[in-house]
Amino acid sequence: MLTKQSVQIIIQRAFPGMMEPEAEEMAESGQVCSYPANWVLCHENAIENTFYIILDGEVRVTKVINDAEVRILKILRPGDFFGEMALIHNAPRAATVTTINPTAVLEIHKAAFDRILLQNSSVSLAIVREVSRRLRENDEMAIEDLRVKAKELATAYQQLSEQDYARQEFLTTIAHELRTPLTAAYGYLQAMQAGMLHGPDFQSALDTITRNVKDVIFLVNDILFLYELELILLDFQPTDVGQIATRAIDGQKLRAEQAGVELKLQVASDLPSISADAKSLERVINVLLDNAIKFSPNGGVTEVNVGYDDGEVWVRVADTGLGIPEEAIPRLFRRFFRLDEVDGHLFSGAGLGLSIARQVVEQHGGEIQVESQLGKGSTFTIKLRR
Ligand code: ADP
Repeated sequence: MLTKQSVQIIIQRAFPGMMEPEAEEMAESGQVCSYPANWVLCHENAIENTFYIILDGEVRVTKVINDAEVRILKILRPGDFFGEMALIHNAPRAATVTTINPTAVLEIHKAAFDRILLQNSSVSLAIVREVSRRLRENDEMAIEDLRVKAKELATAYQQLSEQDYARQEFLTTIAHELRTPLTAAYGYLQAMQAGMLHGPDFQSALDTITRNVKDVIFLVNDILFLYELELILLDFQPTDVGQIATRAIDGQKLRAEQAGVELKLQVASDLPSISADAKSLERVINVLLDNAIKFSPNGGVTEVNVGYDDGEVWVRVADTGLGIPEEAIPRLFRRFFRLDEVDGHLFSGAGLGLSIARQVVEQHGGEIQVESQLGKGSTFTIKLRR
């Protein structure tokens, strides 16, 4: 319950230095009003003429930032005052003030307050102090906002330039990857047309042309697949990973036979199915098998194991091929990274296979790992969440 005396005490708290008779005069110039919770006392941008001192309860001061976000500037309690701008110069309200819970205020209208301001220096001083404090606070907030925005802009700019650089590098590499095999094939074709190649030379040129054209087809397919991966959402369905591995092995049998590589497959008997995109997953296993065979130029064994643990189904592709130099391992999954010569053997390829594999596996929420020892072979493991 607010008594006349308690109102005066609160006024004196709001304006330190104010004497009792002045506080009494101020209390009498205004009107004590009570409001329920969520009552808007001041409306941002409106021209209003009332000054408020909180006697009881709490209010929230909010401001609309960037036309959208409503920011809470502060919470005011008994002894705090607001709405002084309207009394000093007829400015629109700079913020909205809403009661948080039932609140009692002393409301003083402009004419009465102007009179008090002229007569009472402690009130004037308190108001000046408060206004300058609020202006400083607003400046600090604006500067902080600018700082945040500048940082966001700098980050966005950096991301854009990185993307731009990656795109340019991607295009340059593709152009180079296409030009090299096509230029070589064109050279051989011209020599053939001019009748310069005969017998085994003719046959060897034909083989080179076929190999180069095949490389170009694979590269274009990989690029299209990468492009699709970025544009098309994967089709997640309950999937039997064992079946996918079997299909991939069947597809690579002939190549393995020609390369003298023995293919083995082992699938855990009660393998649970997982939610996956079968087509892309088969592509991943094919990339791993393809590399395992390619990088086993002296033949050997490539074993595919499909199993599961608590939370995941895994596929392991282990070969007994040339292995991977340790320093190349951190870069293995980057686009266009490849080694075209290992241990004196030359290899073709665009260096997109493993980057496609990693992207697909990550889109499945899984991970891909590699272990390798030069001269002994490599093991790639895909882990997929069940
Ligand atoms: P590529 O088309 O060149 O095979 P990948 O992205 O599939 O491209 O592989 C990148 C590089 O990783 C290869 O050039 C090779 O150096 C290395 N690599 C991948 N798999 C194997 C493997 N099973 N054995 C040895 N090296 C491998």
